[in-house]
Amino acid sequence: MLGTHLTFPSSNSKFQIQMTNHTTKILIIGSGSAGCTAAIYAARAGLSPIMVHGMQPGGQLTITTDVENYPGFEHAVQGGWLMEQMEKQAANVGTNIIHDTIKSVDFSKRPFIAVGESEDSYIADAVIIATGATARWLGIDSEQKFSGFGVSACATCDGFFYKNKEVVVIGGGNSAVEEALYLANIASKVTLVHRRDSLRAEKIAQERLFANSKISMVWDSAVEEFVGTEEPTSLTAVRLKNLKTGDVSELKTDGAFIAIGHSPNTELFKGIITLDSDNYIVTEKGSTKTNIAGVFAAGDVQDKIFRQAVTAAGTGCMAALEAEKFLAGH
Ligand code: NDP
Repeated sequence: MLGTHLTFPSSNSKFQIQMTNHTTKILIIGSGSAGCTAAIYAARAGLSPIMVHGMQPGGQLTITTDVENYPGFEHAVQGGWLMEQMEKQAANVGTNIIHDTIKSVDFSKRPFIAVGESEDSYIADAVIIATGATARWLGIDSEQKFSGFGVSACATCDGFFYKNKEVVVIGGGNSAVEEALYLANIASKVTLVHRRDSLRAEKIAQERLFANSKISMVWDSAVEEFVGTEEPTSLTAVRLKNLKTGDVSELKTDGAFIAIGHSPNTELFKGIITLDSDNYIVTEKGSTKTNIAGVFAAGDVQDKIFRQAVTAAGTGCMAALEAEKFLAGH
């Protein structure tokens, strides 16, 4: 698997840049639940994959706390721990896991070539892209302070903890409306805060939202600050500014869900692989095949609807099986 070491002396002879060529049948880019599952399946098929970690080893689950909806555990487990286990499982069955971040790819011919921040090259017969997506945040300081302590970017993950409590959802697209409707089944009251006076979400979703007696709207408003206690760190309210009148008010809440969209991590693939209008990788229906034969995409980088660890793991499995079949045919 490990190829040649190339040593380049610099003009200053004390320093040398060492680059390595890694060759593999399958290169997996990304190490969240899609990447790890792809690695487990590819390794067990005897394909000795290389999985390159990326900027956020373990992916989005590593920034959540309790995970209660990943099957197999009687009680909640910590997201970080779950990803450690997946990675260890991938390593134990034969994945070569490398701490690097891919910075460029050449998919114009096979074998494919990817180059890491380390300057190492990865030469692969097939590639599985599992670089995930990043939830967009409002970007105010108090948001990070209360993240995991009342502020969340995933209602499906954290909504359960707000049974019969009051929550706020921020956003006006399909995600915000779906999260508000989901939370209305759990919480006692849901307030949807949107920065304009109309929603971007589909009409049918809006109709459901407006018909739900547990949900109320705050229009034309932005969150100025998340407010709460220090010890224990816990959210108690959101400070809102009406963008039309300038009025500032505080809305008491137990939880706040940011639903202002996700950005798929596809910057690297722009102009190389077919992306949709939201920059998600386009895969064939019912498959993880991209427009390039031998390059597959799994997990949130190609899924803007479900975005769950378990669905990402599912498509990771599909990608490994499809890559295996592709390699067998070539
Ligand atoms: P969208 O980009 O559609 O919507 C984001 C929303 O957040 C917009 O209403 C936007 O406001 C608001 N927003 C953005 N930035 C800020 C900010 N800084 N402060 C306050 N509000 C902000 O993202 P979604 O995640 O909702 O959807 C992404 C894509 O996925 C869409 O194509 C959507 O249709 C699709 N999707 C489909 C689903 C389904 O079919 N079941 C489910 C979920 C998503 P503004 O409107 O003013 O721009």
